[in-house]
Amino acid sequence: MSESHNDDNSKLKSTIEDKLFLDKYKLDKQSHIEVDQEKYKTDLLKAVNYICPAKVYAHSDEKNECLVSFENCLECGTCRVAAPDYVKWYYPRGGFGVQYRLG
Ligand code: SF4
Repeated sequence: MSESHNDDNSKLKSTIEDKLFLDKYKLDKQSHIEVDQEKYKTDLLKAVNYICPAKVYAHSDEKNECLVSFENCLECGTCRVAAPDYVKWYYPRGGFGVQYRLG
């Protein structure tokens, strides 16, 4: 194989972050995600902070609560499965949310 062929293959490799960068979002001021903070505090694993591909959830040591960056949501629904006891997730209002592009 020629070296230039290998270079062409390397251009095809991209990270998740590269692909996420291609997505567009129409932002809403109103969150489509609610977290029951009291129930969140009792969850020892706090898996919701690790399963979201868009890193929407993050634990705040300072406030001892779950911070939610709902604007980055990819609408995959994983958090509904991982934390059904304290995450209430709905689709964004009509016209808002992620707009996927090929990538
Ligand atoms: Fe994250 Fe998917 Fe839940 Fe959106 S639906 S917050 S992308 S896990």
